[in-house]
Amino acid sequence: MEKYDLMSDKAEGFINAGEIALTLSTALKYGNDAAVVRQILAKAREKKGLSHAEAAVLLLNEDEEVWHEIATLAEEVKNAYYGNRVVLFAPLYLSNYCVNGCTYCPYHAQNKHIFRKKMTQEEIKAEVIALQDMGHKRLALEAGEHPVYNPLEYILESIDTIYGIKHKSGAIRRVNVNIAATTVEDYRRLHAAKIGTYILFQETYNKEDYEKLHPRGPKSDYKWHTEAMDRAMQAGIEDVGLGVLFGLHNYASEFVGLLMHAEHLEAVYGAGPHTVSVPRLCPADDIDTADFANALPDKVFLKIIALLRLAIPYTGMIISTREGQRIREQALKLGISQISGGSRTSVGGYAAESEPEKDSAQFEISDRRSLDEVVRWLMELGCVPSFCTSCYGNGRVGEDFMSLCKKQLIHRYCTPNALLTLKEYLDNYATPETAAVGESLLAREMALLPEVTRRFLQKRISLLKENKVVFF
Ligand code: SAM
Repeated sequence: MEKYDLMSDKAEGFINAGEIALTLSTALKYGNDAAVVRQILAKAREKKGLSHAEAAVLLLNEDEEVWHEIATLAEEVKNAYYGNRVVLFAPLYLSNYCVNGCTYCPYHAQNKHIFRKKMTQEEIKAEVIALQDMGHKRLALEAGEHPVYNPLEYILESIDTIYGIKHKSGAIRRVNVNIAATTVEDYRRLHAAKIGTYILFQETYNKEDYEKLHPRGPKSDYKWHTEAMDRAMQAGIEDVGLGVLFGLHNYASEFVGLLMHAEHLEAVYGAGPHTVSVPRLCPADDIDTADFANALPDKVFLKIIALLRLAIPYTGMIISTREGQRIREQALKLGISQISGGSRTSVGGYAAESEPEKDSAQFEISDRRSLDEVVRWLMELGCVPSFCTSCYGNGRVGEDFMSLCKKQLIHRYCTPNALLTLKEYLDNYATPETAAVGESLLAREMALLPEVTRRFLQKRISLLKENKVVFF
């Protein structure tokens, strides 16, 4: 059996079952020890993060007062690193053909009644134009794993198509990619295609359950899947996005595994994950969530979000429309920095608005509001919706991004950029009602900027009329 080693290049070394068990038994012992908990909270207050062992102690603490303290601290940490900005994106499902057997996913190869579809480049164009007409600038590409239907060449061609579409005043400026684990060579090709973040959910860090949940297909190889982010980073992709699918295995060990993975990437490559996603298992075609015994209650889910914010304070945190408005609202306060809006999880679901969105969908969406409604709601909560992609465009990725973020300097860029892209959104895409809410938010936020930044921003806002977005 592998020994725990943060720097190991082997899945079972850096995600070590023995270390997870030891972490949890120690956390159980000290979880309700007031002195230990106080010490860890004091460290969290420094806003420099917590180790997996420290965060696990807070996770297993049962004191309501401690929970309130965690929640307040998480909000403070989020404000320190991310302010009130919330980045918006939409998923784009290219193809749901898949050779894997993931027992929780309706795309699994044995599902014979789901409607299978792979978009042509023309269909992708129509989807992207529909997304651009909503105001989106950032996409997360999604595809099943299928060497014949969805080879890497297809993904690369689709990325090229997407970046190439200039429609009205819009363009998609950042394409994140969520596709199956692949080789270093393929990651190099994705990097060369100028993807934003490479996202891959671990699903579960528990090897035994992983193998049961992935009985066939290339994804059944735990080692291949778990070491994927190492290969991606070795290939030059600096921004990677982690996640577990909560509901598959017990949440406490998943939480520890996720933090161990983040620690490993930070130790080996100098930058932890750019983002962490927190998907929870949803009902879907051919999938009954009742078959899975590890459903995560809302309260624990929110605690996990808050603790991730304390443990990895610089990491972007993503919540999708798997969650409804109520949970998303609470999660935003506790540390979420990116959300999807106006999403469709079916292949071709954006352009085919009028067709029943059936059959090809990956899971049932809980938040079905339009992007305009999501933007207005965020502003009414006091958040600044951001369509910014500037860091990526200016090469502030990986370690460079993290070092600015750690020094709490990323605000200098992000706040004016967020306001610039919000203005662009309001002028081009918002309903009059949303635009009115947005203009008063803009005025309030601009008044808070240092004089010199405000003047620069005003200049750049005036350039929007000529379709020029000049980022800070
Ligand atoms: N084929 C790629 C892979 O294997 O990683 C992309 C996967 S899929 C398009 C994106 C993610 O959706 C999966 O990694 C999984 O975590 C999530 N997912 C699958 N079934 C789900 C369900 N029933 N409810 C919620 N999320 C689900």
